[in-house]
Amino acid sequence: MIKVVKFGGSSLASAEQFAKVGKIIRSDAERKYVIPSAPGKRNDKDTKVTDMLYACYALAEQEEDFRVQLMKIKERYDSIINGLNLKLSLEEEFKKISENFKAKAGVDYAASRGEYLNGLIMANYLGYEFVDPAEAIFFDENGEFDPDKTNTVLKERLSKVERAVVPGFYGVGADGKIKTFSRGGSDITGSIVAKAVHASCYENWTDVSGFLVADPRIVENPKPIKTITYRELRELSYMGASVLHEEAVFPVRRAGIPINIRNTNAPEDEGTWIVESTCHKPEFTITGIAGKKGFVAVNIEKDRMNTEVGFGRKVLSAFEDYGINFEHVPSGIDTMTVFVHHPEFEGKEQAVISAIHRYAKPDSIELESDLALIAVVGRGMKSTRGTAGRIFSALAHANVNVKMIDQGSSELNIIIGVSNSDFETAIKAIYDIFVVTRL
Ligand code: ASP
Repeated sequence: MIKVVKFGGSSLASAEQFAKVGKIIRSDAERKYVIPSAPGKRNDKDTKVTDMLYACYALAEQEEDFRVQLMKIKERYDSIINGLNLKLSLEEEFKKISENFKAKAGVDYAASRGEYLNGLIMANYLGYEFVDPAEAIFFDENGEFDPDKTNTVLKERLSKVERAVVPGFYGVGADGKIKTFSRGGSDITGSIVAKAVHASCYENWTDVSGFLVADPRIVENPKPIKTITYRELRELSYMGASVLHEEAVFPVRRAGIPINIRNTNAPEDEGTWIVESTCHKPEFTITGIAGKKGFVAVNIEKDRMNTEVGFGRKVLSAFEDYGINFEHVPSGIDTMTVFVHHPEFEGKEQAVISAIHRYAKPDSIELESDLALIAVVGRGMKSTRGTAGRIFSALAHANVNVKMIDQGSSELNIIIGVSNSDFETAIKAIYDIFVVTRL
């Protein structure tokens, strides 16, 4: 059996953290392929190496002196090497990086060096082979990840190596230049590697013991989620629950490989299992609650709207014309409301309003801002009567006015719109009723 293990930046921020990681890997012979991130923060005031690289390269691009900044980055790596007593020198690597910075090799190249160098250290520390994603992870002409080419090449490459370190976050573009995923993208690399080697499990090691039922900044000491399905996770991460990169589920999901989120600082915790499907009964009716602030409701009114064929399409094409995504579209007999993200909509609001007037000729349009959306997600809701009733009575008791309700057709989630100012109260009230009092 093969396990692919990815370690996040905070798990690799210092020699001490590397030692914990080494212990975890060596304790299980199935942990054969390792994906490191770049060194993260050692404390709250520290800076991630990736951010240091971006800042350093910005100087290089402006043809300013970047030597001091690059030295600081080298010091981060040297302190890990020395702390682990490794016989490894990054002298030559840094010379090459400096030359490439001067030659303006690109911002993605610069950022990718964080993972590249950490990968060299990790491979040396574990005695594993180093496999450079620049030779095995591909992006196409449009800059999109190329899953088929990658899977073929990576599979072939890794079939020849029993144990390897593959740095996260980057690959190579169609133009031969280094290209990165979006921030936090080492999670995606781990998933790609897990698929290529047909892993039995993709372990994603971070600094928390998995997903929590609610955001710990809102609810005190929320319960952990033991098992969650990919679909539930999509709903929650879309609404802001961030432990894993949103895109990381796709490669393993299609291959039926479960993800196990684990805590490097508490390896005995079982963490969260992310699976395709499960017969494990969720501990509570709901699996998780997440939400986002900063939405605007565009309320459109027109008498006898319900009899007008194509009204909805005309309204939505006004949003499409200005490249605005909509979130939800609840409608009534003579009204239709479109929920959009405030920051995206703000600069274009008047243009969109006049386009709606042109296309759909409504009687009136009104905007309501400062709204928040909350997603209550759970595979258990489908088979439980009265879930919605409990949510709304909890909100009524907490004096929260509900402005919008949308139950997804899969019965996997209920989305509730409230004022920004009621956001935290609403989440606490929903958590209380399902998890604390378990009514
Ligand atoms: N080091 C990159 C970042 O900070 C990628 C990652 O850590 O996954 O975004």
